[in-house]
Amino acid sequence: MAQILIIEDEKRISDFVSKGLAIEGFTTQTAATGVEGLGLALSGNFELVILDLGLPDMDGFVVLKKIRRVDEHLPVIILTARTSGADTVAGLTSGADDYVPKPFRFPELVARVRLRLKSAVRESESAPNPDDELLRHGDLTLDPVRHLVTIGEEIVDLSAREFDLAEMFMRYPGQALTREQLLNNVWGYDYDTASNVVDVYVRYLRNKLGASRFLTVRGVGYRLVEEKHYQPEG
Ligand code: CA
Repeated sequence: MAQILIIEDEKRISDFVSKGLAIEGFTTQTAATGVEGLGLALSGNFELVILDLGLPDMDGFVVLKKIRRVDEHLPVIILTARTSGADTVAGLTSGADDYVPKPFRFPELVARVRLRLKSAVRESESAPNPDDELLRHGDLTLDPVRHLVTIGEEIVDLSAREFDLAEMFMRYPGQALTREQLLNNVWGYDYDTASNVVDVYVRYLRNKLGASRFLTVRGVGYRLVEEKHYQPEG
């Protein structure tokens, strides 16, 4: 799996990103300053860089320019609270491959990471991506690329949040997922952790996809029942 470098001085955010990417199977390393980040980025050990613009010692754009002077191809995704259009343009013209404004939702970031890694692979040789494959649970199928959920032959109408939550469960079948993990991955790190939104949305999924698929893990959160133990109701 790809090794990803996160250059970000705000620990809360670098922790959030690196934990999330670890769940997705990536190996990460973080750097809290531009100097440290630049050294690592040019070490040749990383396949992708996530770069914050507001760093304590130098501007992220400077880091990016220095990377580009040496390495034209290393995918760089800029992560920043600056949301002005001028900055987006500056980021893309200075050699960034993508630009994710803060606050961001994790699935959005990981989708961009995968996309950048995939196009980097495509440049060398084309390989099928297992993450594009259909996720299945009994008669339930989720197509991450077409954003489509079906039970048997029937299409189930899910909101974007319901879809992201269902995808999260289906990527980790049988695994207890904490409310915090679900909240971080589906709603984003700056969402109020005291909120009961996860419980509310699990209730929606139970109604739409079948109550017996989603088990409550007392004091922790929820898990998708193992397929072999799943008994469709009715
Ligand atoms: Ca910063």
